[in-house]
Amino acid sequence: MTSILKYGTIDDKILEELRAIVGDENVFTEPHHRAIRASVPAPFPLHKWSEHTPDVVVLPGSTQEVSEVLKISNKYKIPVVPRGGATGLADGAMPLRKGIILDIKRMCEILEIDEVDRTVTVQPGINMQELNRVLEKLGLWFPDDPASYPVAVVGGRVGTGGWSLVGAFGGHVPDLVLSMEVVLPTGDIIRVGNGGGRKIRKSSVGYRLKDLFIGHQGTLGVVTEITLDVFPRPEVEFPAFFGYNSFEHAYENAFKMTTSGLRTLGAVVIFDEEKVEYLRRDDEAYIPQPKSIKSIIATVMYGTEAEVEGAKKRLFEIAEKDGAIYLGEELSEGDWASRHDRYALPLHGRRRSDWQVVPMTWHCEDAAINHSQLPYVRKRWHEIASRYIEQYDGVFDDWGMFMYSNPPFRPWGDYLTEIDIGINELALDEETWEAWVNMKREIAEVVIEVEGSISACHGGTREGDVEVCVRQELKDGQFELMKKIKKMLDPNNIMNPGKYMLDEAYQEG
Ligand SMILES: Cc1cc2nc3c(=O)[nH]c(=O)nc-3n(C[C@H](O)[C@H](O)[C@H](O)COP(=O)(O)OP(=O)(O)OC[C@H]3O[C@@H](n4cnc5c(N)ncnc54)[C@H](O)[C@@H]3O)c2cc1C
Repeated sequence: MTSILKYGTIDDKILEELRAIVGDENVFTEPHHRAIRASVPAPFPLHKWSEHTPDVVVLPGSTQEVSEVLKISNKYKIPVVPRGGATGLADGAMPLRKGIILDIKRMCEILEIDEVDRTVTVQPGINMQELNRVLEKLGLWFPDDPASYPVAVVGGRVGTGGWSLVGAFGGHVPDLVLSMEVVLPTGDIIRVGNGGGRKIRKSSVGYRLKDLFIGHQGTLGVVTEITLDVFPRPEVEFPAFFGYNSFEHAYENAFKMTTSGLRTLGAVVIFDEEKVEYLRRDDEAYIPQPKSIKSIIATVMYGTEAEVEGAKKRLFEIAEKDGAIYLGEELSEGDWASRHDRYALPLHGRRRSDWQVVPMTWHCEDAAINHSQLPYVRKRWHEIASRYIEQYDGVFDDWGMFMYSNPPFRPWGDYLTEIDIGINELALDEETWEAWVNMKREIAEVVIEVEGSISACHGGTREGDVEVCVRQELKDGQFELMKKIKKMLDPNNIMNPGKYMLDEAYQEG
């Protein structure tokens, strides 16, 4: 197949046009500005850095400016990649065809807080920590709570269709977005919501187009304004961690917790045996735990004092009846409080053989898996990881698995399941990079085997996952329809080209 499209080159004339739109001070061509916006926290192919460096960085200040930039890009056929907090783990904000990085972080205003109809309208560059700092003073709460909470921004959360740690209580990003303003690749500005109402939560009018613009990884346009649901701030947050003598023990008890009907549950998270062993290697909270504790369940509850008090009793009964050990207030509260920073921190690992510190960063492969399939997936994923660790000693490590309750407003049924892999990025070259891609492919294929979804959280746009997503998960007509929609909305394939293999929409032969 050959591409029927050719991209233009950014020359001085185009740079002048971009500067005229956003101002000289918001167009960057210097190498350091461009290089830093090539990288992402997913395993980064350092040896291929130059292939991902954009030609220019543009920071728009308004919807109108975004629209004008896209019109120029469309006219000269220049690729555009929107970039928010750049914490995405599916390479979404990494340019594959160079061109323009549209960094939306200047657009970070809160435009309206409606205390009566309980909504907040924001620009895409605001981050959840800052938003909640302002909402808290009014007794309000935006419950999107990813581990990347202090860094990811609302636009990027929409771009990935993000998942919240407390989603069982407050829903995930797709549940919390009421309406959005979107600039299409042609520069046209549209509004999508539940029907036409900006602050309406449920409507039966028209197609559900809002969902089309959630999780598209910047391939269909740029979100420039978002109206979100806000909740009353809960009176109480109550985390409780329990220890078990095996993964199987924790797995059975998790089922009883998630199906207990307790509406206050925000999350039920299983740490498997490999995860507990990893934490025991150098996390000070876990080192002193008795050796008999092999697996852990973390829970958190939200609600009024009276609700949580009652629910707490029931939860402890469920845990203790099955022989679980409560790990105490200090560990429960401390670990829950550190949920927003612990995963960004690991810059080292410990070699398995002698526990020597080695340079390693954290990477995770996530999937949506039904409860019934968790033990099988766990066994297979660890087997796959072990094989690669054995072959590439010191390059990869298995940091264990988490299984988080996944469905919004109901903790049962399926889980966001992740395997955390330590990677020595300095050791990545052509061979080890290919090994990493193959490992991911094998991990993704297990998901298809059990009829899961390759990502509950980050998206399936990375090398390794993407072929399995497109060719296997979305094979029954979904990918074909995606290509038609992409080509209709983005006739010149300027928006984040190369992602989700959507270039195929523009090929012939
Ligand atoms: C330590 C750590 C912990 C994490 N924990 C979680 C977690 O608990 N839950 C979770 O869901 N994710 C998690 N992630 C992944 C990541 O934080 C999310 O995917 C997040 O939604 C990305 O937001 P961002 O602002 O960083 O977006 P970016 O990475 O900048 O962009 C993500 C995608 O959205 C597109 N995009 C950005 N802005 C716009 C816009 N205005 N319009 C259209 N498209 C846009 C980009 O092109 C890209 O494809 C974690 C990541 C890290 C590093």
